Parts: sequence; C-alpha cells; structure tokens
Amino acid sequence: MAFPFGRWVMIERLPEEPIVAFVYLDQHAGPSAKGGLESESRQLATMPSRTVRLSPQTNLRELTDDEITARKLPSQPSWLTSFGPQPTANAPWRTDPHLAGKFHPQFPDDIQVLVHDGDPRRMRRGPELCWVRVQRIDRAPTRPVTGAHGLEKSHFVYVGELLNGPHTLESVKKGDRIKLLSVAGMPHPLHVNDDYLRERLEWQITPCDKCGASECFDPPSVMARVRFPDAPADSEIQAFTSFCANPNCGGVQALKRL
Ligand SMILES: [Zn+2]
Repeated sequence: MAFPFGRWVMIERLPEEPIVAFVYLDQHAGPSAKGGLESESRQLATMPSRTVRLSPQTNLRELTDDEITARKLPSQPSWLTSFGPQPTANAPWRTDPHLAGKFHPQFPDDIQVLVHDGDPRRMRRGPELCWVRVQRIDRAPTRPVTGAHGLEKSHFVYVGELLNGPHTLESVKKGDRIKLLSVAGMPHPLHVNDDYLRERLEWQITPCDKCGASECFDPPSVMARVRFPDAPADSEIQAFTSFCANPNCGGVQALKRL
C-alpha cells in the first residue's frame, strides 16, 4: 500500500478521539505518523503528543488543503528534519505496473535492482541484486520496442541511491546514484548507464522469444563489436541476435539499427 508521505492525515480510532498527524518515514520503525488530538490543535504540529506506526489496516484519510489551512498546519513540521531523507510525495514508480509488489514492504521506495558492470559474457562478472532507494524520474525519451502489439512506448528511467555495496562489481559502489529501467518480462529493474540510454534510441530490440525482456546489459554497438570482432573498424553492424539479458532465461533477443 502507498502511504501518503509528506501529507497531513486524520487517523480514526473509534471510539477514541481521532488524531491529526503528519505521515513520515522512520528509517528504523517504518511508515509512521506524528501529531495529536484535534483538541490540541495549537501544539500538534510543533509538539506532537502521539506517534502512530502505520499499517495497511490504519484507518486514515488525507486532510484537504482547506482543512490544513483551517488548522493552521505547516506544510512540513519542523521535527521532520531529524528523521532524514523522506520518500517523495509524488512517486510514480510506486504505481509502475512492472514494479508492482517488488518494493520493500516497510520502505516503499526501496527495490532490488539487477546491478552490473556490463554484459556478464563480456565482463566475466555476473550481475548482482542490490537494494536501491528510488528517488526520482529521469527525463526519459520514448524508446522504440517492437512487440506483439507493434511499436510500444518505453517505460520510465528512474534514479536511485545504491544502498548496499556490490561484492564483485567495480563500476558502482554503495551510495552511488544509478539509473534503472523497469522492464517487462524481467523479475527486477535493470541498472543502465547513459551510454546505453543514448544508444538505445537508435536500435530496435525485439523482445526475448521466451520471457519478453526488451533490454540488454551493454550498449548495442558494444554488443555488436563483441559478436563480430573481425568486422572492419569503419563498418557498422546493422542487426544481430543475442542471448536474452534475463539471467537463466536462455531465449533470444534481436537487435536492429533503426
Ligand atoms: Zn528472456
């Protein structure tokens, strides 16, 4: 469930008096709300008397702008800063159909991402599943993907912070901001770099014949060089096929320069 982080809410606790509270993320205790009784209106923002740990069963509703104004509530209470970075109130990744059900149940922006140094067949280093806290959307152009329904639009490129250090990878470390794509057919979002995203616009990738995955590890020109090492340096490979990027899939993707 998506909690309304950064919003004032009314929490019903029948038969007791409802609580007016601000929803925030406590890094240790999970989604929470801090506030007080209606009758404490003057202090509930500055000196909250109640803290509620939220669950999908918590009966809450967001206050309207008029209700917030009437109660003279600030847009953000001053105590919020002591709880560190907060989830973005506007977080479209939480409703991305390819990511549904994959976020950490307590930390709604944390997701396991397939992080890598490039194509495992080229690097001889496998991808690793790492936790990433998604922070924002990158401005992503439409990327052409052919599928059963003809040309599809691409999905978002997200930017997030790598929360744990990979064991063997060398291109990224804990704390780095990395980009990721939500990919149909893949069990986890895929880490991508700017070279890949730039080149991706010039290539049509026919999704894997087994799992439907429509993205790869390496920029297509790098993939082509690996597959045709004897091609003259000034030649441009126009099309080729590749084993699917999805670990353990074994299907085939087809790439064609547009
Ligand atoms: Zn596949």
